Amino acid sequence: MSPDGATGQVSGDVRRHNLTLVLEHLVRVGPSARSEISDATGLTRGSVTALTQVLVEAGILSETAPVGGSKGRPLTRLTISADRIALLGVQVAADEVSSLTVSLAGEELDRGSRPHGRPMGDPEAVLDVLAGAVREAWDAATASGRRIADLTIVVLAPVGGRPPRVLGDIALGWEEVDVVAGLLRRLPDLPPDIVRLESDIPLAATAELAALKATGDAVFIKGDSNVGGALVVNGRVVRGAHGLAGSMAHVPVVPDGKLCECGQHGCLVTVAGIDALLDAAGDDPRPMRQSPSAALEGFVARVLADDARAVAAWDAAVAWIARVLQIIAAASDPRVVVIGGHWARLTPSIAGAFQANRAAIASPGSAYATEVLAGILGADAGLRGAVEAARDRLLADPASLTKFNA
Ligand SMILES: [Zn+2]
Repeated sequence: MSPDGATGQVSGDVRRHNLTLVLEHLVRVGPSARSEISDATGLTRGSVTALTQVLVEAGILSETAPVGGSKGRPLTRLTISADRIALLGVQVAADEVSSLTVSLAGEELDRGSRPHGRPMGDPEAVLDVLAGAVREAWDAATASGRRIADLTIVVLAPVGGRPPRVLGDIALGWEEVDVVAGLLRRLPDLPPDIVRLESDIPLAATAELAALKATGDAVFIKGDSNVGGALVVNGRVVRGAHGLAGSMAHVPVVPDGKLCECGQHGCLVTVAGIDALLDAAGDDPRPMRQSPSAALEGFVARVLADDARAVAAWDAAVAWIARVLQIIAAASDPRVVVIGGHWARLTPSIAGAFQANRAAIASPGSAYATEVLAGILGADAGLRGAVEAARDRLLADPASLTKFNA
């Protein structure tokens, strides 16, 4: 069958755009009848019939068993099957490598995690563990008859350069590391064109906002082994001229404050980062060396249990976190502020301190107020964001979708 024969006179670009409209509708809404797709997308019934026929023949869509329709006529719905395709995200955190494999429709297919022992300053040892995790997830997908159409490596560190590299990871003691090259050296069979390297923050921001159904302008801030943030304008993460936008950790908020690793004085991370919190709370440093994430989880539990020293440490940090958010909110007027990572569980205290010093026009209850919401994805946010972004890239390119599902 000639793919162009399906829609006759429309150009390739328009047709690709229309295919993407159909697929995006099915991802957003779930199984839908052709008439429902037509109503929702504004495409004509005939056009939807032709477009979906192409996708059904390519195995991207399948028909559900007919069910009773509104007028008693049985209704056949279309659902995304693409059961040869899988999307893989693998995250390198301060203590472990974790993986998530999903179908194009977002269904979770496989999950894995393995500790890397946090060998400080030794990227090769961590890359060995990363390669093992990728190999295992890859083999699991292959065994279930699927091909990985996209592999995103997620790091809790800034990414830049061309090809993209980790610019430095304080939690792992890394300077610049070319993670993708290191992975391809270990797994030479990996098709290089499907491998990407991304920083977790923009991915986590997008995934949390999608999970909270928060649209439009937003500020995201997250506290884990790293502190980071993102400015979201019109649903898109602002990258900035050099890809450094949203560096909430390095807003120099404390006048004449401590020297930060970045070279500035008084950065937010010097008063609200994991080291500052655990030091002030008098926490045992040993868990921190093993697993910063577990150490921070322990700290949050102490705050929630009203442990006096932990509460005092958190209150001192919250004042600075709120100040940074107030400055960014005044500058960008977001509809929501979303708190991610371990800090999410402490959102009420951040929200309280944030709302305590806002302009009258932007105070809670006003039509111009900014709402502060707790993120709901926890440590999964970056991985979720990675596979959702991969899905969106594939949906925007129906030709490669068809190729991978073959
Ligand atoms: Zn700094």
